[in-house]
Amino acid sequence: MKYFVKNDKVHKYPVPSTCNVKYTNENLHDTPPKGYEKCDHCFQSGNG
Ligand SMILES: [Zn+2]
Repeated sequence: MKYFVKNDKVHKYPVPSTCNVKYTNENLHDTPPKGYEKCDHCFQSGNG
């Protein structure tokens, strides 16, 4: 799992089906970058 920042939010890569963000060659990170809000659609609470 990788992470990228778009629109000041951290999204997962590959983007889960629950999120409609489009990945357009943003920098990929091995861990969620600090200082950004996490996307609610990519970081849902619950199992998994
Ligand atoms: Zn997202």
